[in-house]
Amino acid sequence: MKIQEADAKKLLLAQGLPVPPYEVARSPAEARAAASRLLHGHGSVGQVVIKAQVLVGGRGKAGGVKLAASDDEAEHVADAILGMTIKGIPVRKVLVAPAADIVREYYLAAVLDRAARRILLMGSAEGGVEIEQVAESNPAAIIRVHADPLLGLRDWQAREMAFRLGLGGHLKAAVAIAKGLVKTMLANDADLVEINPLAVVREGPAGGAEERLVCLDAKITLDDSALFRHPDHEALRDPDDEAPADVEARRHDISFIHLDGTIGCMVNGAGLAMTTMDLVKRAGGEPANFLDIGGGAKADRVAAAMRLILAEPKVEAILVNIFGGITRGDEVAHGLIEARSRQVRDVPMVVRIVGTNAEEAARLLEEAHFATAASLDEAAAKAVAAAKAARASGSGASAASEAAR
Ligand code: GDP
Ligand code: MN
Repeated sequence: MKIQEADAKKLLLAQGLPVPPYEVARSPAEARAAASRLLHGHGSVGQVVIKAQVLVGGRGKAGGVKLAASDDEAEHVADAILGMTIKGIPVRKVLVAPAADIVREYYLAAVLDRAARRILLMGSAEGGVEIEQVAESNPAAIIRVHADPLLGLRDWQAREMAFRLGLGGHLKAAVAIAKGLVKTMLANDADLVEINPLAVVREGPAGGAEERLVCLDAKITLDDSALFRHPDHEALRDPDDEAPADVEARRHDISFIHLDGTIGCMVNGAGLAMTTMDLVKRAGGEPANFLDIGGGAKADRVAAAMRLILAEPKVEAILVNIFGGITRGDEVAHGLIEARSRQVRDVPMVVRIVGTNAEEAARLLEEAHFATAASLDEAAAKAVAAAKAARASGSGASAASEAAR
């Protein structure tokens, strides 16, 4: 689960990391009030920065990060940003903070290195630039240090990172931040804690200004599988930024992952779902999704799964593969029949149900004129053939449904 910059910064602050103060505003008037406090309040600043809060990178380039020097300008800029859509996501909130006087930008992140089974600290002196870009253009510029799974990130490792980044002049702060990123990751079960830019900024009055190292941007993704250990994090979920299909899938306890192919798959059990996808590929098709309806699915969940699959216009045929254990075949059959009666689009479907109450399921499906298959290979072949037929006949899916039988 991705969380907004403002929320990520809160998690960093909780671990004692240096984050400049900020406020979140949902309207131009709120942004104006926040800017006013910063521009005229105690320890006032000359400019504020206003930043779109959307769960995508590159907000700066898209015009979602702007400076303002007066209340009027802040309101005006916030109005413009709140009216923007960045990479398809409407901006509903902005972050308002004192504008930093940036001397130099760095990149520093803690990520989960699954292959090494360790937390990896990645740094680059080319801050502000997206790391994927650095990895492509100048991979040698990325410094990598693995934290020990038991001992964590050692001081000497953090110092090495700091020196190699050229942050020797800010050694103490850099070490604290490097260790703090790993701490933030562990404390929150995050799989990414990314600061880009980590910036050396000038602070204080002209003349007596001092340099300080601060986290100017923050990106954190939380491990979905560990969310149950952090009930507070549920409040950080941003329903706006999640595809409606994902919200719907979670509501019904369905594991649903979108893929690029044309064969929709409905399966119970993750392993069987993977196998089904393999067999679709072997039969010459491409799966449109991974979908696991889980154990003991009732008719309504089956119907919900069908809606999820059909919501994707690319789907040309559906393969249902159920191995009945706790899940009862007749329940699934009822769900499929109900789903098809409400289906707006006629998509050919091939059903294979074995196990608990399979005979009852077969009878129900036959009465409802469903195409069925006895083996998984046969089911995959039929679904792929039906998809081909649907494509050949344009939108004439009825002919393809016939072909599936
Ligand atoms: P991103 O583009 O979504 O990663 O958003 P960032 O928060 O990283 O901002 C993008 C860029 O805007 C940064 O790399 C900075 O160069 C610039 N920027 C962000 N905050 C400030 C600020 O307070 N002052 C100044 N002068 N520039 C800023
Ligand atoms: Mn950034």
